[in-house]
Amino acid sequence: MPGMPSLDEAIQRIEITTGDITQLRVDAIANAANESLLGGGGVDGAIHRAAGPQLLEHNKTLGGCPTGLAKITPAFDLEQQGIRHIIHTVGPVWPTTEAGRQAESEKLGYTREDVLLASCYTRSLELAREQGCEHVAFPAISTGVYHFPKDRAAKIALGHVLGDLQQHDLPARVIFCCFSDDDAAVYRETLNTRHQWM
Ligand code: ADP
Repeated sequence: MPGMPSLDEAIQRIEITTGDITQLRVDAIANAANESLLGGGGVDGAIHRAAGPQLLEHNKTLGGCPTGLAKITPAFDLEQQGIRHIIHTVGPVWPTTEAGRQAESEKLGYTREDVLLASCYTRSLELAREQGCEHVAFPAISTGVYHFPKDRAAKIALGHVLGDLQQHDLPARVIFCCFSDDDAAVYRETLNTRHQWM
């Protein structure tokens, strides 16, 4: 298709880094929120602390967010460092039950949770694009207290973000902000072995 960026071009627009997502200088950061959007632990807690109490006041007016979807807000105190938006997306909890997961996986090759996690990334990118964001950062959604297997989550994140970047010019750059070097190594290994699963 003319004008459609190649997979290699899309890969050039991806960055894998280790650190605290609230320290980045990007147009938008994604938050691995819960359905209440009223804050929690992990990256959600860090983002609420860094954005300040206005974020909680604002989110109280949003009426929550279903799993797999996303809502965008101002970045409040994080605007001082150039972050314009926070995209709150609610990842799935893994697994609902092991038996249920296996049955679904055998039948379809993927689970309900896989689809919901993919949707977190694609919905977040849609919202970022609507706001003209050039640079967007994601944490490893659902891989903390929601216990999504890290390598499975990395395949979903990379696969769907790469697919999205091939179809759109925005965002120009997507940063996967891992919280440890081990987590970043999972992303790098997943990207390097993409020919086995993409
Ligand atoms: P979830 O409930 O979606 O699993 P968590 O916040 O528990 O969300 O974990 C998601 C990921 O975010 C984990 O990999 C965790 O290590 C990571 N994380 C925690 N704090 C930060 C932070 N400040 N910046 C980036 N990633 C973070």
